Amino acid sequence: MTTTVIPSVLTTPAAPREYRLLIDGRWVEGSSGFLERSSPAHGVVVSRYSTAGAADVRAAVAAARRAFDFGPWPRLTGGERARLLAAVADRVEARTDELAYVETLESGKPIAQARAEMGWAADLWRYASALARTLHGDSYSNLGEPVLGVVTREPVGVVSIITPWNFPFLIVSQKLPFALAAGCAAVVKPSEMTSGTTLILGEILMDVGLPPGVVNIVVGRGPEVGAPMVSDPEVDMLSFTGSTRVGQAAMAAAAATMKKVSFELGGKNPQIVFADADLDAAADAVVFGMQFNAGECCNSGSRLLVHRAIADDFVAEVVARSQRVPMGDPLDPTTKIGAIITPEHLDRIEGYVAGALQSGADVRLGGGRVADTPGLFMEPTVLTGVQPGMAVAREEIFGPVLSVLTFDDADAAIRLANDTPFGLSAAVWSRDIDTCLAAGQRLRAGTVWFNTFMDGCPELPFGGVKQSGLGRELGRAAVEEFTETKTLHMRRGPRTAWWADRRAD
Ligand code: NAD
Repeated sequence: MTTTVIPSVLTTPAAPREYRLLIDGRWVEGSSGFLERSSPAHGVVVSRYSTAGAADVRAAVAAARRAFDFGPWPRLTGGERARLLAAVADRVEARTDELAYVETLESGKPIAQARAEMGWAADLWRYASALARTLHGDSYSNLGEPVLGVVTREPVGVVSIITPWNFPFLIVSQKLPFALAAGCAAVVKPSEMTSGTTLILGEILMDVGLPPGVVNIVVGRGPEVGAPMVSDPEVDMLSFTGSTRVGQAAMAAAAATMKKVSFELGGKNPQIVFADADLDAAADAVVFGMQFNAGECCNSGSRLLVHRAIADDFVAEVVARSQRVPMGDPLDPTTKIGAIITPEHLDRIEGYVAGALQSGADVRLGGGRVADTPGLFMEPTVLTGVQPGMAVAREEIFGPVLSVLTFDDADAAIRLANDTPFGLSAAVWSRDIDTCLAAGQRLRAGTVWFNTFMDGCPELPFGGVKQSGLGRELGRAAVEEFTETKTLHMRRGPRTAWWADRRAD
């Protein structure tokens, strides 16, 4: 692999960085040629990945299987695994500049945000390290004197980890350290558009001494590389983050071998603003919620549900603030909105806006791409006059587009909020704790924020209901997701209840 020299004033690199696959502890060429990735903000090739074919996926799964069935990793103590995971956190921090630079070039996200994401990721590795030492089972001594029940937590085995392009390093860090803490082995497939930082993570894992085969990293498109990782009978669990459409197909494919599955999928998350809210704070959070990561965010606050009495003034404030957020070259440390991931995705976002206009919505801000730039930039867009049945009110747009709907009372707000196939997150803005709690209890979402938005930390579980996913990441139980429980039911002394061949007493 080549390394990237980071220019002192950040610009695109002179040549693309080259990457190979990590299989069984070695960096190897894939059998399917190369994929190139251009920076969506600059239009120049920044990465060249050797690409896996079916034989490489089989080799990666076989290496993980051997590492799990016969290697040292699942047999180490939790303390020994914890030391290695903590060492990964240290190296992620030490390589933050390089990781953030690569992440920004491939994804188009602002460099200041990418640097923050590396810090959050390091924190996740450290949290998993702590959990590695506390993972434990259960015991029962109340089953009668000669009986003892012991319930153990065993690593589930080989895990296929498939991740999307919007938070490449952060999302692999929500899964892999917890799988490793449990003692699992893994095959990891990052998005074919943003594989660089996951492959650098592979270097870090080798540097800290992870045994060969425990983590294997294969690069390529979903149908060629992701699909065999789902169907392979030697894989015990699938941990997938991506779109609901691909997640549904993966769930059906995993059923053939009855894999354990966990899914983190799309969202259409409402921010509900009541008239008694701190409207200054709420407006700021609405702008943040729609524009963070250019709206390419599962947690994006893409629906504003605002009380009719304050709607006009509140929307005017959101529009005014939206115009002040700096958009531009993501390598500029002051940029807050970067580029859109691909030309096709930019077309899709514009298509949603055009569809909304045809259905009778109004554009209050933005509405289209930024012209006269080699990069892919979408204007922050605010749509009013949105009706609940419109696609922009129900479907995930995954761009900086806010759909505004109004309500007259709390019941109507909850009905609107719950009226999509998704249930990832939601926010409630009110100074009345009763209003917040009542809404929080009735909202169908995995996370509900009160008077804040898109906050997160390793201690709090994250995941969705309805078509936003299955299972939870993070939180105290994060490592348990990657385990199976086993029951050891023990009896001492002679058997007391004979069944087939009862002997005379
Ligand atoms: P995607 O579903 O297109 O791809 C996700 C991953 O699946 C990629 O690595 C892709 O190569 C792979 N893939 C594609 N087809 C496959 C197949 N047939 N079998 C196996 N793998 C396959 O998603 P994306 O466009 O990369 O990411 C955006 C989506 O991810 C959005 O819907 C977003 O909401 C979701 N997301 C969810 C969360 C969450 O935590 N809930 C977080 C981030 C992103």
